[in-house]
Amino acid sequence: MRAVLTPGSLDEVFDLLERHPDAMPVAGGTDLLVRLRSQAGQDDRPLIPLADVKELHGISKDGTTLAIGAVTSFSRIIADPLIAEHAPLLAKAARTIGGPAIRNMATIGGNIRTASPAGDSLTPLYLLEAMIEIASQRGKRLLPIGEFIIGPGQTALCGGEIITRILLQPGGCFPCHCFEKTGRRRSMAIAVTSFAGMARLSGEGVIEEARFAWGSVAPTVLRIPALEKELAGSRLDDGTIRHAAQIVRESVTPISDIRATADYRRSIAGNLLARFLEGLRG
Ligand SMILES: Cc1cc2nc3c(=O)[nH]c(=O)nc-3n(C[C@H](O)[C@H](O)[C@H](O)COP(=O)(O)OP(=O)(O)OC[C@H]3O[C@@H](n4cnc5c(N)ncnc54)[C@H](O)[C@@H]3O)c2cc1C
Repeated sequence: MRAVLTPGSLDEVFDLLERHPDAMPVAGGTDLLVRLRSQAGQDDRPLIPLADVKELHGISKDGTTLAIGAVTSFSRIIADPLIAEHAPLLAKAARTIGGPAIRNMATIGGNIRTASPAGDSLTPLYLLEAMIEIASQRGKRLLPIGEFIIGPGQTALCGGEIITRILLQPGGCFPCHCFEKTGRRRSMAIAVTSFAGMARLSGEGVIEEARFAWGSVAPTVLRIPALEKELAGSRLDDGTIRHAAQIVRESVTPISDIRATADYRRSIAGNLLARFLEGLRG
């Protein structure tokens, strides 16, 4: 029978992970418990529930940093005024995750650790240049999200470590932003392709700075820095938008699976950018 080792504090989490190196932290359980159920008892490693560890909950801001506890649920993120003010793009993406019951359970730390190319919080976190705080009994370290996620299901976490907080720059979200997800049913389906974009325009309609990220078109979330750089200083005419969408189609490396073909994902990835840029033109 599986052991459940219940910690009362963050220090106890670290202590349990040292004493039981094979134990798995569980937050909302919406990924892990589903996976364990599908394995029908083949994996009996102990679980360490994080839900009651107060230090891992909540959203706060000091002068230079907006901090989101790893065990904060997406419902809480959607309702939080600091997120609405400083990271509305993250709230937009969170609203598309599962249905209300899933959003009440599912946590941002679990979404990041699952490291699915379709994880809906990830594209906004890449654009907002989130830093992932990792901690263990040995201390803390910080990694940019793009270095934390290594591949599908793979992260830079080492033994004994958990994600403790997600750190953002207050005011890091640009005024024009969007999150879009294509799939069969909007909230209960895994995204076939997702897109997050944000841009800052001059009064004359020239792009000052733009950032874009795609989900489910590569092993990890994809940004195309060369395209972002090329578009800075551009006025958005039809030719620029067509050219940008073509660059996206040439840059993505999607796979075909039961939900969509690689060609469909490639085409949609370009269309999502084109739609965002057309929207900026007004
Ligand atoms: C019906 C349904 C619909 C869904 N819809 C969506 C969707 O639309 N979009 C989407 O992105 N996802 C969706 N998901 C997937 C899932 O809900 C999310 O990935 C969720 O954010 C996972 O968080 P959790 O707290 O439930 O993680 P858990 O299941 O508790 O854990 C997931 C993994 O992360 C590890 N972990 C958890 N917390 C930490 C931590 N602090 N530090 C280190 N490791 C940790 C666990 O050990 C496990 O490996 C859906 C799932 C279901 C069942």
